[in-house]
Amino acid sequence: MPELPEVETIRRGLSKCILKKQIKQIVVLCDKSWRGLDKQRAQGRKICEIQRRGKALLMRLDNDLWLMGHLRMTGQMIFIGKEKFAGGHPDDGCVEEMPGRHTRVYFEFDDGTRLFFNDQRKFGFLKLMDELAMTEDAFLRKLAPEPWDLTTDDFWERLQRHRQAVIKAVILDQQVIAGVGNIYADEGCFLAGLYPGTRVRAVSREQADALLRGICEVMQRSIDSGGSTMKDYVRADGTKGSYLEKFAQVFRREGRACRKCGTEIIKTRVAGRGTHYCPKCQPRGASDA
Ligand SMILES: [Zn+2]
Repeated sequence: MPELPEVETIRRGLSKCILKKQIKQIVVLCDKSWRGLDKQRAQGRKICEIQRRGKALLMRLDNDLWLMGHLRMTGQMIFIGKEKFAGGHPDDGCVEEMPGRHTRVYFEFDDGTRLFFNDQRKFGFLKLMDELAMTEDAFLRKLAPEPWDLTTDDFWERLQRHRQAVIKAVILDQQVIAGVGNIYADEGCFLAGLYPGTRVRAVSREQADALLRGICEVMQRSIDSGGSTMKDYVRADGTKGSYLEKFAQVFRREGRACRKCGTEIIKTRVAGRGTHYCPKCQPRGASDA
C-alpha cells in the first residue's frame, strides 16, 4: 500500500504532466473503479490543481468538481505523453501496451496525451464529486490532520483517547494522525526511543512530542527523496525512491546492527503488523504488547 510520501510524490509528478490539460474523453473499463457523478461532467473540463489529503489525490476541475483518486493496494497512475510517468504499484502494467489488462479507467487529453488508472485488485477508485459531496465524504471527514499540521498539544490529546491501545496501532489510525503507514510508524518510534508495543497510558508527554517530531522528520525526508523504496513502488518519473536505503534506521533491517548502538534490530509483530525495533534504544516495558 502506498504511504503518504509515495502519494505526495505521485501528486508532484502528475502536477507536472496534466495541469491545465483539457479532458477530451474518459473511458471507464471497470464500473467499480468509477464512483460519484457521471463521467460526462468531467469531460471537456480542465484540471486546475492537484491536492492531496492523507493518501487521497484530489484533482479540481475548472467547473469546481473534484476528482478524488485512491490507489489503495495496487493502484497505479501512468501518464503517457512525450515523456512517460508512472507512480504507484508496478506490475508489468508499467511497460506493457496501454490500456493494459489492469487498466480500469483512462483519460484522453486534448493534446493526445493520456493518463491511465490501473488497479490489479480493484480496491482503488476514482470518485467525481461536487464541493458539497466533498465536505460530506465519509473518508475525508474522518481523516485526521497531517503530522505537520498537528500541534504537540493536539497530538497528545488525540493519543489520550486511546490509552489502553498500543502506540503503533494508534499512530496507524488515520483518524488520529493522517498518512502514517507501517514504515513511518516504525521509524518514528525509533527516533522517539519508544517501543512500538508500548501502551499509550505508559507513553510520557516527552516521548509523545519526540514521536510527533520523528514522524514529521521521516515523512518529510521521504517526500524529499521521492518516496520509500518498497520494491513495489516506483515514483512519478518511473525510477525508484531512495528513502529506505539512505535513511531507514530499523525498517527491513532485522538482524543488522542498530545504527545508533550496534544492537541487533529485531522484527516482531505489533498491532498485527510486521514491526522493527532496537531492543536497547527502544526498551520494552512490563505491560507492553
Ligand atoms: Zn539501538
